[in-house]
Amino acid sequence: FDDRDGSIWMDGEFVDWREAKVHVLTHTLHYGVGVFEGVRAYATDQGPAIFRLTRHTERLLQSAKIMGMTIPFSVDEINAAQCEIIRKNQLKSAYLRPMAFYGSEAMGLHAKGLKVHLSISAWEWGAYLGDEALENGIRVKTSSFNRHHVNSTMAKAKTNGHYTNSIMALQEAENAGYDEALMLDTNGYVAEGSGENIFIVRRGKVYTPSLTSALEGITRDTVVQLMQEDMGLEVIEKQITRDEVYTADEAFFTGTAAEVTPINSLDDRVIGSGKRGEVTTDIQRRYFDVVNGRNPDRMDWLTVV
Ligand code: PMP
Repeated sequence: FDDRDGSIWMDGEFVDWREAKVHVLTHTLHYGVGVFEGVRAYATDQGPAIFRLTRHTERLLQSAKIMGMTIPFSVDEINAAQCEIIRKNQLKSAYLRPMAFYGSEAMGLHAKGLKVHLSISAWEWGAYLGDEALENGIRVKTSSFNRHHVNSTMAKAKTNGHYTNSIMALQEAENAGYDEALMLDTNGYVAEGSGENIFIVRRGKVYTPSLTSALEGITRDTVVQLMQEDMGLEVIEKQITRDEVYTADEAFFTGTAAEVTPINSLDDRVIGSGKRGEVTTDIQRRYFDVVNGRNPDRMDWLTVV
């Protein structure tokens, strides 16, 4: 991924894609304390537009705050840099990856005086789980790896090191022939996917796990607002067990990368009809209308680049 044309924004400047490097003693590389975001810009009639930009930037700063890290840029500066990097690379649509990380000024857990860097990369990226998955759904397996306990890592922070847990779960699921992992919290309740929040539809009501052990997903929040305000559905946040998922009428994942992806089965138990359900189809269409700038009532969620 490092050998391509283009520019990356680093600490306020554009750097050639191939030259956007760090030293091997970069503190974050050793200990995982860094924070990042995953943001998407979609091709709209008015050009590329970033979806819920400020909310993502705010989450980045909140993640940093939780980790005790001070990012030396403001919300406005980070927002502007994301628009600039799309323009600079002449992207029509983009996945954006802002990341704040510690420098290589010192080693060890006690390291002081570390510089906080901010890089923003952007590239064109299609459907995270593939176009097929958006239409036909995916096969999911409950992971043997629990999501972090609330007192081990902070779920509201999108911290680099947290993703060792996600990657182990995903690898386990993929090695067993599934598309994605469902992770339970340390009490055994459904938490989230390796990089997605989960929703289930059961007897006309929509449920999603409370946020104790799951990331406060921006797609999750978007979907909740659309379902409540535009679809008149009741969305209930609660503790969910895996047998509630087995016996749900529909289930789907949400995430900036995964967008709205139907789940066909969990642990080989077919969910509902085993095909993208009615509510899932409706919310997916509404989500794509909003992000692609086709819903005039929701244009305030878009920042035209
Ligand atoms: N949970 C995890 C663990 C994630 O990595 C992501 C992706 N950022 C999500 C949920 C979904 O969050 P969002 O909708 O903000 O992308």
